Amino acid sequence: MPFVNSKREINVTTIYTNGYLVDEAFLDRLEERGVRPTFQMSFDGIGWHDFLRGLSGAEERTRSALRLLKKRGYLVDVSMCLHKKSAPVQRETVRLLASLGVRHLKCGATLEIGEWMSPEVKELRLTKEEELEIFERYIPQYFEDGEPLSITMAGVFRHKKGRPESSSFYHRKCLAEEEDKRLACPTLGEVFYIGADLVVAPCQGMCESSLAPNFPSLKEQPLREILTDSALISYSYAKVGDVRRGNEECRTCAFVDRCSGGCRLAAMCEGGNYYGPDPGACRFFKDGWEERLLRCQDFYEQQSQHDQNHRPCDSGAFFHGEAGADVIAGHVAGCGSQAEADDDLSV
Ligand code: SF4
Repeated sequence: MPFVNSKREINVTTIYTNGYLVDEAFLDRLEERGVRPTFQMSFDGIGWHDFLRGLSGAEERTRSALRLLKKRGYLVDVSMCLHKKSAPVQRETVRLLASLGVRHLKCGATLEIGEWMSPEVKELRLTKEEELEIFERYIPQYFEDGEPLSITMAGVFRHKKGRPESSSFYHRKCLAEEEDKRLACPTLGEVFYIGADLVVAPCQGMCESSLAPNFPSLKEQPLREILTDSALISYSYAKVGDVRRGNEECRTCAFVDRCSGGCRLAAMCEGGNYYGPDPGACRFFKDGWEERLLRCQDFYEQQSQHDQNHRPCDSGAFFHGEAGADVIAGHVAGCGSQAEADDDLSV
């Protein structure tokens, strides 16, 4: 809080929190400073939130913070980790979050990072295939429930409540002549993450990655300097061309005309190469999931008797066509706020 004041010209656009410290007094102190951020909360499924934290009562604290933020009129986005125990409650969790005023939910399987590398929880992790099957089941339910909120399901599927089209982060077209102009991850180029330990990182998920020791700290360098001259900049502003030159698989891939390489954090978690291919994007394109998910939304359309309000796209092209090209989503570990979604879908 001491960093946030008008003399320092520092504004805070988003606060990442589990809600534990969010109370009336905290919001008062923000507002005294003229700061009104969006809140990015974590909520890991009805009945499973406490389990993941090893802390009894954590779920109720988060629900209480969500109620307070709704009452005070703040915009709230939520991220939810999906694992073998929480995946079955995805539908009811979405309904609950919508009733608590949440604007956007980002959900997806966990990456192999931080505590998720521990053998104790490893067996709870979902494979890419399992994650995709869960989304395949849930997408029709999401529309049956009337699009309760805007949603991002890993890099696979994004839908903004009330919009006719859906999109996918993985489906990001980049022509060869543009690859050194287009960012490998548009989100990294727009926002930075400052951790509670004052380390500045390209995104929250990267704080626990092998790159973390390279990130600068506000304890040692002023923010102005960090944002103009540091390793952080080269990671954040990596281009699609850097990824394609950085690994053979993308360079020679049959889907390179539709895919910009996916998420940098996911790529790094898989093979340790920041410029490597994202295995989620590879499964999506190479295993035919793009078509499978299109069919699952087509099925929903038949069920809903072509309700125009719920149709993803008039052309029937869920991820293709004008509306579907060049839109982004994010990974569960970090990016993908609704503000970003708004921008993406207006491309
Ligand atoms: S190798 Fe994978 S990440 Fe790279 S372009 Fe092909 S599908 Fe995308």
